[in-house]
Parts: sequence; structure tokens; C-alpha cells
Amino acid sequence: MQCMKLETVNRYLESHQDHLMDLLRELISFKTVAPPGSYYQEVVDYLVPIFKEMGFKTEKLIMPGEVFLEKCTDPRLVGDRVNLRASLDVGAKETLIIYTHLDVVPPGDNWSTDPFTVQVKEGRVYGRGVSDSKGAVAGMIAALQAVRKHEWPRYNLQILLTTDEEVGGYSGLCYFADVGLIKGDKMLCMDGFSDDVVVGSNGIITWEATVQGRAAHSGSSFLGVNAIEKAIPIMDALMKHKKDVESRRSTLAASSALREMGITRMRPVLNINMIKGGIKENIVPEICVMRGDRRVIPEETMEGAAEELEKLIAGQEATLSIWPGYPPMRVNPDHPWVHEVMDAVEQITGSRPQIAGSHGSLDQAYAFDVTRIPAAVYGVGRQLESNAHGADENVRLSDLVNYSKFIAALIV
Ligand SMILES: [Zn+2]
Repeated sequence: MQCMKLETVNRYLESHQDHLMDLLRELISFKTVAPPGSYYQEVVDYLVPIFKEMGFKTEKLIMPGEVFLEKCTDPRLVGDRVNLRASLDVGAKETLIIYTHLDVVPPGDNWSTDPFTVQVKEGRVYGRGVSDSKGAVAGMIAALQAVRKHEWPRYNLQILLTTDEEVGGYSGLCYFADVGLIKGDKMLCMDGFSDDVVVGSNGIITWEATVQGRAAHSGSSFLGVNAIEKAIPIMDALMKHKKDVESRRSTLAASSALREMGITRMRPVLNINMIKGGIKENIVPEICVMRGDRRVIPEETMEGAAEELEKLIAGQEATLSIWPGYPPMRVNPDHPWVHEVMDAVEQITGSRPQIAGSHGSLDQAYAFDVTRIPAAVYGVGRQLESNAHGADENVRLSDLVNYSKFIAALIV
């Protein structure tokens, strides 16, 4: 049974879809592409008055230069990292934190329309970021506005809209976590899909193995050392390790999209994704560099996964570099907060969502690692439909409206 207040709010949201679309159109028009991470200042300047009007206290938080220089080592990142924290104190016992990122991945090619001009076609909304994750921002703002029109939310709210999640390194949220700016009792991460309520994610390690050889005229190749040929046994060893790693299973279910393909539980992953070596067909290659990633399930540790790789390479003639990214996350699926999120979804969609883990890696995991605030991930797009990070990224208009209602159901 829905309460009267929520019914009123939902009716309001139904009849104000144009407003939701206006918000989304504005948000998408800011080309907050990362890297380099542009228009952060502009998009935050757009959002500040919207939150102020609802009675929020807003803070525009720029990552200090020395932190940026130390932690954000990706040379492609340029400019100020401008983040927004908006807080509303209604005198409630508990504070709900709602988070997602404002950056988007580069549009890439093959779009049917301009990626930064929202288009609506046959019930679908197209634009870079409509699914990942500005659609959720628009839906949340529409919901907050509708709720504030009719009454106060039942939680104090802290809204975090931050930078550089898509870069995979030290994001605005990581910075917030480290300096104690994430304060509350429960956290909703909107950076996900609407297929499941996600309570876990894989950690990520990026690795690089370099094999050194010695260049020579290939006519007398026996006078040199062929770095590519030396890399073959290392790749063999990596493939053997891959088989072992990928036979492991998490206790957490995989996403419903993967389950449909017969992959029932989260699993770790090891990939060789790049290889570079040689400059010409008749020169013995001097160097061969392999790069890849290792996804770490919550039952493993980042250190353990790194050690396995180090041990494997130690027996070979190669040097290994390792860059740990976001850690794995696992929130107790039985936590009351997780069930609260599932209840809100069920109230709006009419069916109970499943609990799952994400094979992708999230900065939410970093925040959870630091703060231990119980978190659940629920977003607006659909994994097999929305083409997040691809061309013609889209969401169903009905999913956007439902997302607004979901946020309202959480806070009314
Ligand atoms: Zn995202």
C-alpha cells in the first residue's frame, strides 16, 4: 500500500515529465568528458542554485592542487576538479547520502544524433550520460523538488555529485572519503543499472609486464634477443593463471543480465589487453610490453591478487608494474538498508529486484572501504539495453520517471 503523500508526489512526477526532461537536457549539454574532465565548474554552477532553492546548503569543493598532483597521475586530466556537496538538515534522526558522478566517457563515433543534445525517440531518451549517470541526477532532482513541494523528506540528505569516476583513478568521491566529507547513516549510489540492487563489486588492478631484448639485424637474429619471442612463455604462464583465477567464484550472484547468459555468480577475471613490441619486420624487437587488468572478487584481496601476479612474473625474465585501483566491495545483503532500497524499487516497479554484484569496479567501493557506511547501488539504465559507454547511449523515458518515483519512495 502506498501512502497518500507518496501518491500525491508520484502524480506530480507523472504530470511534470517535461520538467524532468528539461533538467536532463541541461545536464547532458555540459560536455563533462573525462579525460580531460571539462565543464566541471560550469555544471556545478548550474546545479548550485537548484539545490539552494530547495533549502540545501551547498558547497563547491575543489580538490586541492597538491592532492590532485599526488593522486591524479593521469596526464590527460586537466583543470580544476570541482565537486558538489549539498546538504539538507530536516532534524531527522538519520542522514541519507545520495551519490553519483557528473563526468561522462568520451562520446566516440557512430552516434545517430549529437551525443550532447538529448533526443527522444519512441519512448527512449538518447545522449551521452543519460544512463551513466546524469539520468539518475535529473531523476533525483525532480524527485527532491516534488517531495519538497509537498512536505519534508524523512531523512536529512547529503547529495554528493563528483568528478572523474570514469577515469578509474582518484575520483572526487575518493577525495571526499579521505577528508571525512562523507557523513551519514546509509548511502545510495546511483552509478549503476536498474536491473538489480547491487551490494558488491569487483576490485581492479592494472598491470604491465616488460620484457627486455636486444635489437639486431633479423638476417642474423641469433645475434640479438627477441623480446616478443621471450614474452611467449610469460603469456603462457598468464593464461594458465587466468584459468585458475577464473575458476573461482564469489558467493554473490552476478548481475541479472549475466545470469541470463548462464553466469550465475561473480567471478574474478584476468586479461592481457594490450601488447606492444617491434618497430619493423626486419629488426629483432628490443622490447615487448604487455598490459592488462585483474578483477578481484570480494572474497579475494587486492594484495593477494597482486602477490599472485608478482610470484608468476618473478620466475620469468620480465619486470612487473602494478597499479591497484578501486578495491572490491561487499555490503551485507541482509542489511536493513539493502532491504529498504529493494522495498522502494518493488513499490514502484511492482516486482522485487534481485540482489547482485557488479563485475565493473566502482569508486563507491573506495568510499565504502574508508567509511563503512552501508551502501546499495541502484541506477536508471539497463545493462543490456542502455549501451552505456557506447554509441547511442539511451534510457527508457518510463525508467527515468520510475527512477524519480523510486527516490521519492525512499525519502517520503
Ligand atoms: Zn558511472
